Amino acid sequence: MNVYDSNRILDLFKNKDYEIADDPKDANLVVLNTCHIREKAVEKVYSDIGRINKIKKNKLNDNFKLVIAGCVAQAEGKEIKKRAPSVDFVVGPQSYHNLPDMLDANDKVLSDDFTQNEKFKNLLYNSAGGVSEFISIQEGCDKFCSFCVVPYTRGPEFSRPVSDILSEIEKYVNQGVKEIIFLGQNVNAYHGLEDNGKSRDLAYLINKVSEIEKLKRIRYMTSHPIDMTNSLIEVHKTNKKLMPFLHLPIQSGSDKVLKDMNRKHTVELYKNIVDKLRGERSDIALSSDFIVGYPNESDKDFEDTMKFIEEIEFVIAYSFMYSQRPGTPAQKKDNIPLAEKKARLSALQSLLKKQQKNFNKSYVGRNMEILFEKEGRYKGQYIGRSIYNQSVFTKSTSSLINSISNVKILKSTDFALEGVI
Ligand code: SAH
Ligand code: SF4
Repeated sequence: MNVYDSNRILDLFKNKDYEIADDPKDANLVVLNTCHIREKAVEKVYSDIGRINKIKKNKLNDNFKLVIAGCVAQAEGKEIKKRAPSVDFVVGPQSYHNLPDMLDANDKVLSDDFTQNEKFKNLLYNSAGGVSEFISIQEGCDKFCSFCVVPYTRGPEFSRPVSDILSEIEKYVNQGVKEIIFLGQNVNAYHGLEDNGKSRDLAYLINKVSEIEKLKRIRYMTSHPIDMTNSLIEVHKTNKKLMPFLHLPIQSGSDKVLKDMNRKHTVELYKNIVDKLRGERSDIALSSDFIVGYPNESDKDFEDTMKFIEEIEFVIAYSFMYSQRPGTPAQKKDNIPLAEKKARLSALQSLLKKQQKNFNKSYVGRNMEILFEKEGRYKGQYIGRSIYNQSVFTKSTSSLINSISNVKILKSTDFALEGVI
């Protein structure tokens, strides 16, 4: 979502005749779009501010402005100004549309209101020039998992109207985009209004959008298990443009930990969803998120997570050590020693890596439809994505970019596939 937001910020400034500088040293304006989800991401912001400061000091005029945008700006706005006085403007994720005006007026340094409606109305939507384009359709969260900052940084759940999303997609598709990825912190909780006042869900939106002829592929992320409705599951069978890949975070394979996390779902509910999904689309590839070392996570809880992963078989997954976040209910508790957290993360990641490797290997010798996105590192090499979101490398004497081609897979590595047209 930060990639999407950064592209929108870029649109706003391009509209004011700014251009991208190749190097911050050549810039008059630097915008750091930040993430608050784990402590490490926040530390990075302050080290980046230090790096930019050096550039700022070497500038001869005071024309150089440093902006902190995103969720760290939202969560720590006033502290940032105190801790890093060199920062000129601070703007949260729901009010960054104000940024050009703030710079022009030079009188308001902090904007952190939750003005989602205003924001989307005032953004410009130009394709970043690629084959695949992100589109935020839903933002914020009302679920309040005990470990998570999102409800405080992105604000309450908000869904964009159907017609706004459709016109944004039409614009991208006319600029050559073939794939769109719907984004939301809880994208499957989408409930946007149509012009006639009817509330529509994600299943409806996917079907509606797939009517756009030139659009070939649709994906969505991130989904919460509790909002995985039967109608959405069914679209995986009935809609051929919807890719057979689902990112569905569970966080833990232990019901006790899920309860402590206030996740509002059980392991059984998750397994039921997987059964239903595989019933509708047997080859659907599943991905997830895991947190290890959550407060009071016992050896047994962790083993349950490992068993759960063995049982489901994920094609990829993201895993993190629990990080204490300010203002969240779990903030005060962090009782698993770092060495133990690291050991659990490493065991879990090796299991996930083994599953990813096996999944990739199972496609060697088979044909796959690949949407090519960009050139590779070597001359004549192109990189695309399979329907299951795997990276696929191939060689060609003519450009493959923006085409969908049939590739015979010859080789697999841990993270990618290689083949010939
Ligand atoms: N809405 C999605 C997750 C969005 S946050 C969901 O409910 O699943 C993205 C991921 O960051 C989460 O799935 C979680 O695994 C991780 N994460 C969030 N807060 C964290 C924390 N305090 N410590 C470690 N990982 C965290
Ligand atoms: Fe955070 Fe996702 Fe939980 Fe919302 S549902 S609080 S975004 S982890």
